Amino acid sequence: MKVTGNNSNEENSKTPLNFIEVMIERDLGNGLHDEVITRFPPEPNGYLHIGHAKAISLSFGLAQQYKGKCNLRFDDTNPVTEEDEYVQAIKKDISWLGFKWASEHYASDYFDQLYEWAIKLIKKGKAYVDDQAAEEIAATRGTPTRPGKESPYRNRSVEENLRLIEAMKNGEYEDGERVLRAKIDMASPNMHMRDPAMYRIKKASHHRTGDTWCIYPMYDFAHGQSDYIEGITHSLCTLEFEVHRPLYDWFLDQILDDPGGYRPRQTEFARLNLNYTIMSKRKLLQLVEEKYVSGWDDPRMPTISGMRRRGYTPASIRNFSEKVGIAKRNNIIDVALLEHSVREDLNRVAQRAFAVLDPVKVVLTNYPEDKEEEMAAVNNPEDETAGKRPIKFSRELYIERDDFMEDPPKKFFRLGPGRMVRLKYGYIIKCIDYIKDESGKITELHCEYIPESRSGSDTSGIKVKGTIHWLAVRHAVSAEVRMYDRLFNDEDPAGHKDKDFLEFLNPDSLKVIKHAFVEDRLKHAKPLDHFQFERKGYFNADYDATPENPVFNLTVTLRDSWAKLSGKN
Ligand code: ATP
Ligand code: MG
Repeated sequence: MKVTGNNSNEENSKTPLNFIEVMIERDLGNGLHDEVITRFPPEPNGYLHIGHAKAISLSFGLAQQYKGKCNLRFDDTNPVTEEDEYVQAIKKDISWLGFKWASEHYASDYFDQLYEWAIKLIKKGKAYVDDQAAEEIAATRGTPTRPGKESPYRNRSVEENLRLIEAMKNGEYEDGERVLRAKIDMASPNMHMRDPAMYRIKKASHHRTGDTWCIYPMYDFAHGQSDYIEGITHSLCTLEFEVHRPLYDWFLDQILDDPGGYRPRQTEFARLNLNYTIMSKRKLLQLVEEKYVSGWDDPRMPTISGMRRRGYTPASIRNFSEKVGIAKRNNIIDVALLEHSVREDLNRVAQRAFAVLDPVKVVLTNYPEDKEEEMAAVNNPEDETAGKRPIKFSRELYIERDDFMEDPPKKFFRLGPGRMVRLKYGYIIKCIDYIKDESGKITELHCEYIPESRSGSDTSGIKVKGTIHWLAVRHAVSAEVRMYDRLFNDEDPAGHKDKDFLEFLNPDSLKVIKHAFVEDRLKHAKPLDHFQFERKGYFNADYDATPENPVFNLTVTLRDSWAKLSGKN
């Protein structure tokens, strides 16, 4: 799929068409449709996650690619779980991903029409009110190999059914006391065709229709019809709906009475599954409600809002969706591919910066106390136009604690007693001495700098193998750095029969460094500004950041640290 969206397939002729593109080109070619109209149909009962991003990239991407349209439709047929907060969050996320819907719709806008159609089916003898309780209905549904049992209420007269549906609608029954069912075939090999429910009673306030209704259509009785009303040509959904397709078609055929007339067409693709990741909205809600995370936008959440806060870019998510491609069979994608996508994008766009996360002080004993130099640091080696910035160099510096070892092995190319290292954009220094406190912790390193070794005009002739980053103590700014890692430490946290997914929460998924140091210009970083902290990883400013208290989130390390652990690389 080409989400950037050029109409021309000649331009993209090198990528073979996927099965949906093949279908669309056939439908356009033989004049079945003049224009491609797709839709993305979220239920506003939670925040969008990376799986939805894939569905969004697909439906919006195809509309762009074929110069058609993609609608946003809220599938709001269950008032109990749906809220306006979710509607707003979903719109924000789709826009942030870079997609524009042609028009915004709600299944609830069609409640009148759907009800009329239900009446029509009753009049045709194709629907009936069932008095059985949900448990009885389930118990008499049969199994895939054994037919179900017909309801004793199945052959009610049209008049009685009309009276009962009216009474249901008027609130004369309580939740679960009656249900409207389609009269299809209790022996169908497809369980979804065994007199499926069309309407159920729910005495709950709806986020848009308030208390106007107390009966609500089921997904199956709303989706195809909504597609029809909007003139959708290609209705793309995930594979679990494949078995619903005969019902989708059946309802439309019964309602429309126009064999061969226009129909939206449902096509299924494999949902995105990621290892180390939970994507069930119910479980994500549980993580939020039980406070395992700070909210839907906790940077460890696989939600779009969490990923945005974590530092993912829209392009990285779109590129990921494209790389994953679309398949007809379910599979599991390695979350490392997602991490790779964000690294790849941030490598191109993120400004480099120096940050010392675990500082130890270095005193350059031969560097004058009042002296200060400005070193020129490259903002982004991948982008010449990003230019350079000055960084102040002086006698007292911070370096990373782990860039020094008291007793380093031979292959350690950084600092140790008597050893030399280059300070990036600065000088070569040599460690002369170090000071420890009572607990054995190193508190200060004493080094000498080599005056002839300044980067760019080095005449020292000294070759060193290691280069490290640093910050001048005088100019370093204290910052909080939140080191995020995967939320789960198991590849398939929800896939264990005997264990709850919560048992696989990674206890190290967040480590807060209260006093790291960053370049002083980062005080002014605005929330979501991206940086590569050299040698450390990609970071972005958090929503909590202020000039007084800068806060940064680790988006992703420079290299995949999990690959080593699992022996994959
Ligand atoms: P629910 O269990 O609440 O129905 P859902 O994840 O199916 O959760 P919807 O809001 O119904 O949520 O999903 C909107 C659209 O996104 C649907 O068309 C659905 O098929 C698609 N979608 C959901 N999860 C994924 C996924 N993991 N990969 C690809 N598409 C997905
Ligand atoms: Mg759904």
